[in-house]
This record gives sequence, structure tokens and C-alpha cells, in this order.
Amino acid sequence: MAQQESLERLTALTRPHKGMINIMPLQTGSILTEAARRAVEVFADGYSVCDFCQGRLSEIVNPPVKQFVQELLPEFLGCDVATLTYGARDGVFMVLHSLAKPGDVVVVDGNRHYSTAVAAERAGVELVEVPASAGPEYTIDVDAFAEPLRSRRPALVILTYPDGRFGNLPDAAGLGRIASEAGVPYLVNGAYAVGRMPVKMSDLGADFLVGSGHKSMASAGPSGVLGMKAKWRDVVLRPSTQHKNKEVECLGCTIRGVTLATLMASFPEVRERVNRWDEQVAKAQWFSSAMEGLGFVQLGEKPHRHDLMRFECTKLYEISQRVRERGYYLYKAFEDRGIWGIKPGQTKNLELSTFAASREQLEKVISAFSEILTQYR
Ligand SMILES: *Cc1c(COP(=O)(O)O)cnc(C)c1O
Repeated sequence: MAQQESLERLTALTRPHKGMINIMPLQTGSILTEAARRAVEVFADGYSVCDFCQGRLSEIVNPPVKQFVQELLPEFLGCDVATLTYGARDGVFMVLHSLAKPGDVVVVDGNRHYSTAVAAERAGVELVEVPASAGPEYTIDVDAFAEPLRSRRPALVILTYPDGRFGNLPDAAGLGRIASEAGVPYLVNGAYAVGRMPVKMSDLGADFLVGSGHKSMASAGPSGVLGMKAKWRDVVLRPSTQHKNKEVECLGCTIRGVTLATLMASFPEVRERVNRWDEQVAKAQWFSSAMEGLGFVQLGEKPHRHDLMRFECTKLYEISQRVRERGYYLYKAFEDRGIWGIKPGQTKNLELSTFAASREQLEKVISAFSEILTQYR
């Protein structure tokens, strides 16, 4: 009986936040475009992306994977060679694993994502972190990389640009100059940059640029992109000795089916939207000021330069200490108002993204915060 019920739930899946204002950091950059929604239907037949595959994903002409991977992506990323991955973390791991030997050192910023640490652990390399400044800014000073790059002789240096917690954008081009001077290969983790804001690997002086399809490129995912300089092609994309068409580092092939189809179908729109980044930044700064006007503290860089933001909301936390629903009151209050993105139970530190919502919608978000503060005063 119980099993029958749960099976029915599976076959009648619903989207709980359909039609709501969306400020959830994980979702705002990956909401599918109309073209991608059509692609879901078109590529619903298993691995139909592979109907005309001759053995290499990046050579498939129909659908035009070859053009996407060999022409459009390199131009978009500002790199020589691009490849498809299962996500940003896979791109980071592929590079780590092909450039570093177990026991080697890799230098990274203190705002790194957990997946960078896990990738390093899987590759058996030691991660040396350049710490962020104290709060509330938590900034990364790239000049502090010079010393470890010199003294620790790392196999790779990784910069998180921006980090996923505060949305801080360190001086990536500055680190490019430092890494180049030290002769250390340089990877920029742009999981929250590629597909949202203009970012070119060549402008940053990087050897590698990683993006995430399901974070920032309107793909159903999991999917990702990895761009690199030509000189790394034979290292990172080296073929298997037994199967010349198959690359070792990605176990022969990566994303197929709906994940790839949606990534490609959204690409024309994604490529355009990065040109409107100035409007995104202006919107984020306006939102941050309005939040601070309510007494919340925006953590991270100010003025902020990214749609991803973290707020310290002591007043909301204090309310949670005296209401019956405890921390869940906030989630409920926002859900009742048609706003999606407050994590159930969270009140003290809120991570929000203004990328997908219009100004009018964000005004409703601000009003919601204001009403809640008044209601529980
Ligand atoms: C989410 C995230 C990742 C991992 O991205 P996936 O595409 O899910 O692998 C890596 N780095 C940062 C900064 C992230 O926010």
C-alpha cells in the first residue's frame, strides 16, 4: 500500500515552486529557456544525441555538437580548445588529475567550493589554501598567491570566480599575471560566471576555464564546459591507448541526451544574456541596498558585483527563537507570498540570487521581508 502510494507520487511529479518568483542561487541561472524546453521533448528518446555518432561526441554533426564544441564554445570561453563535462567539478577534477601526481601541491583560494577539495582528495594532491580576509567582506587578495606559488612549486593554481557563498569576484586577471610569472598552470572556476557574465579565459591569462551548465547556462544538467589552451589538449584530452576515439580523463564520453540538448538549445540566449550583465549588477546593488535599508548586513564585497549574495539577518533569527515554527516560519512566509528560494529552516544567513527575478519581482521580495519584520516586531 505504502509502496503503491510512493510509486504514484513518482509518476505524478510536480514542481513545487512553479510560477513563483525564484531567488534560489542554484536555480536562477539554470531555468530552461523555451528552446531548451522544446529540446527536452525532442531528445526524450534515450541517447538519441548519439544516433549519428562515429565514436567521438565532439564530432557529431547531427545534432550540431561538433559546431557547438569546436567553434561556438571556444569563442564564447575565449579559449583554444573546449570540451563537455558532467559539471564544473568534473572539469576541475579532469585538469587536476591530468596535471598533478599524487603528493603534488595545488594552491587554491580560501573561498573554494567543497568539490575542489573533494577533487583534490580523489586525485591524491595536497590543497594549500590562501585564506580569505576576515568578515564581513571575505575577500581574496590575489597578491597573497605569489609566495606559495614560489615556495610550494604547485602543479596547478585554482581561483574560484566568483565563489558560491559570497559572490565575490577576486582579481582573476591579476592572478593570471602572477601564475604566469611563477610558471604555474592556472584554472579559473567559473561555475557562477560562465553563462551569467562576460568572461574570457584569454582576458584572465588562464590556462583553463570551467563552467557549469546547470548552475549558469540554462541546461537541465548535470553538465559543464571546460576550456583550455591548445598546449593542454594532449595532456587533458589524451586518448586511450586501446580506444583511440575515447579520452581517458572523461572515461570516453560525457554528456548526452537531454543534458546536452538543453545546453545547446539555450546557448544562443545564454551567449546574448551575458552582454546585459551591467543591468544584472545594477539590480543586485539596488537589492543589496534595499536589504541593508531593512537592517540586514550584506556579506562579501561592497559594492557587490554579482547576483549571488549572502545576508546576515540577525533580526530574522531572533524571531525564529520565539515563534512556534522556529526557523521554518520564514520559508513558510515566503512560500505564502509566492517567493521561492529561502531554504527551509534558514533565517540567520540567507543566500539569494537576483539573476532571474525582475526589479518588480524583487520589490515584492523586499516588501515581504519588510512585512515579516513588522508582523513579528
Ligand atoms: C556549484 C559549484 C561547483 C560545482 O558545480 P557542478 O557543476 O555542480 O559540478 C563548483 N564550484 C563552485 C564555486 C560552485 O558554486
